[in-house]
Parts: sequence; C-alpha cells; structure tokens
Amino acid sequence: MGYSSSRSIAMRIPHYTASAEFTRFVRTMPKTETHLHLEGSTPIELLRELEPERFSAPPPFWSPEFRYTSFDQFMGLYDEYCMNFYTSAQRYHDAAKIVLATCAEQGTRYVETSIHLPGLAAVNDSGPEILAAIRQAAPPGMEVRIFAGMCHNDYAMHGELIEAALGWDDLAGIDLHGPEYWRMETWSIDVWHRALAAGKSTKAHAGEFMPAPFVRWILDNLGVRRIEHGVRSIEDPELVRHLARQRITLDVCPISNVKLAVQGVPSMAAHPIRALFDAGVPVTINSDDTFFFGNRLEEEYFALHQELGFSKAELARIALNGIEIALLSPEKKQALVAEWRAFVAAESLDLAIAEGSNRFVG
Ligand SMILES: [Zn+2]
Repeated sequence: MGYSSSRSIAMRIPHYTASAEFTRFVRTMPKTETHLHLEGSTPIELLRELEPERFSAPPPFWSPEFRYTSFDQFMGLYDEYCMNFYTSAQRYHDAAKIVLATCAEQGTRYVETSIHLPGLAAVNDSGPEILAAIRQAAPPGMEVRIFAGMCHNDYAMHGELIEAALGWDDLAGIDLHGPEYWRMETWSIDVWHRALAAGKSTKAHAGEFMPAPFVRWILDNLGVRRIEHGVRSIEDPELVRHLARQRITLDVCPISNVKLAVQGVPSMAAHPIRALFDAGVPVTINSDDTFFFGNRLEEEYFALHQELGFSKAELARIALNGIEIALLSPEKKQALVAEWRAFVAAESLDLAIAEGSNRFVG
C-alpha cells in the first residue's frame, strides 16, 4: 500500500501502533470519517512548500505526549498555522486531495469534511467554486460530503455568507464550530431549522468543553441528530438513555479528546466512549484535525482496541454506525452495508455480535 504523504509520515511519531495483522484488519474494513475539519488537517507538505524552514521539523503538538493547555490555545494555533493557507479554491483543492488520499489509503469509503465558512470571506473564489474544488479532489470510489461550520457569534459579521450557503447545491449541511462556552445567539435556532427545511443535514459541536446540559440545549433547540464529540453527555445518565433511544449519533474523536484534555478524559483508558457504546449510544470514531493532533484514523481504532478493550466485532459495529448515518442514496448505502457484511464474514466475526452490539436495550 503506497503512501501519498510518506515524507510527513516519516516525520511522525505514531500515537498507537498495531501488529501487521491488526493493521490489515483496520485498513481493509469499509469505514467512514464523519468528523474531519479540512483546515485543521492541512497537509504539512503544503505548508512546508510555502515556509520550508518553519515546517522542516514536525510541530510540537504531533508528539503523543503533547497536551493543549486550553481550547483558546488550540484556536490561536489554528489561526496561526492553518487559516492563512486558504486563499483560493485551488488551495482548498490541493489540501483536500492529500487529506482524502490519506483517508482512502486507510480504507475510508465515505468522508464528511467541514470547512470554516467565515474563512471564505477572505477568498476571491465563490463558495460554490470552493466546494466544487474540494469535491473534485476525491479519489475514485470515495464519497465526500462538505459541511460549512460557523461559530456561535458569526451571524452579525457573516450573515450574508451564511444565508447564501444554505442555497449552495454542493453543500451537504452545516455544523456549529468554535468555543462551546461562547454565548449561543438566537439566530442559530432559526438558521438550523431553515437549513433542514432547505434539505441540508445539520450537526453541532457540543459536549466537548461544555457539560451535558449544553448537549440537551443543542438537541432541543437546533434539532440536530448528530453531535460532534458529545462525550460529556456521559455526565447525565438520562441524556445517555435519550441519545441511545433516539439513536442520535456522537461523532467522537478519542485522540483529540485526550490531547485537548477534555474533562472526564484524563487518558485514553478512561475515555467515556466505552460506557457510551455499552449504553447503546451510536458512536463513530474520527480524527478531527490531523494537523493539530498528528493522528491517523487507524490509530483511533488501535486505541479503542488496546486501551478500551473493543473487540474486532465491536470496532466493526462502530464502522457500521458511520455507514448508517452516511448521506448516501439508498442504493449506495445498501451496497456499502453489503460490503461491510462481506468483510465481517471474511474476517470470521460473529455477525450477530457485530450488528447487535451498541444497541439500546430496555
Ligand atoms: Zn471538531
């Protein structure tokens, strides 16, 4: 299997490694990536072309031991390292090409990537041109859906852009980004409901830095059925039951949670994804921002197996959760589920366990 980004991989210290057999298992499993910020995953080789000196060595936050001191620090580094790169549709295309190829080489068949919508204000090309450029970067056989993210307070400055985006055909949906602890403004309720009415998919970041009641607020007011992270839902057993009963999916990013020192995640071994999964909450695992965490999707699978005791059948169930929420036509979804079932059979996994685990009972 060839690497499109072998130079940067050579610079990287892996967070988790696995045997050749287990690596093959994870890479060949049909799976999805449904929480991936394009800007936060800017390939280092593109940044190095512009500033060879600065990017000659891996950034400090690639180290597995690195911990961010706060989300504010993370946001500051985001602007400092990555946001300035995106000056044209071509740059979005160049970044997406490498990011999506890296997904494909790990057996990822379907990707939802988000771009930060206010960032488009600094680009001369139009929103639809940027979306087309990203879509054209998808390798053959991969389905890509693009979400536009915005922060709690972006409407005052970027309302026109937000309204326009709801009409872009190539936009799959919207996502709530940025610091969760910023005050929620009422425009978001209206925009999230109008996005749904316009046929867009909706999700929101919640339950990463704010506690369980914020997840509740988001569910009740924005009407989403997809929560990005959502790990602090574990603080409220009734909310956990609600997520499981309603099959509201949490797009979890375990390595990101550890490196951002999310409350309740002092280590991978203590990550609540085990308890959420066992309670029947549909969860997916994802890499979030590969530039800022230095991770690869397959390492998330290795981590759950090695530190949280997830069996191969349970990891397959997590992959199936991603396939089930994928924004695909019924025919394409059926075909991908059939591929997943064929994989489960070929690996001699118990289909009943693989399909039946992670279900809410009682
Ligand atoms: Zn995120």
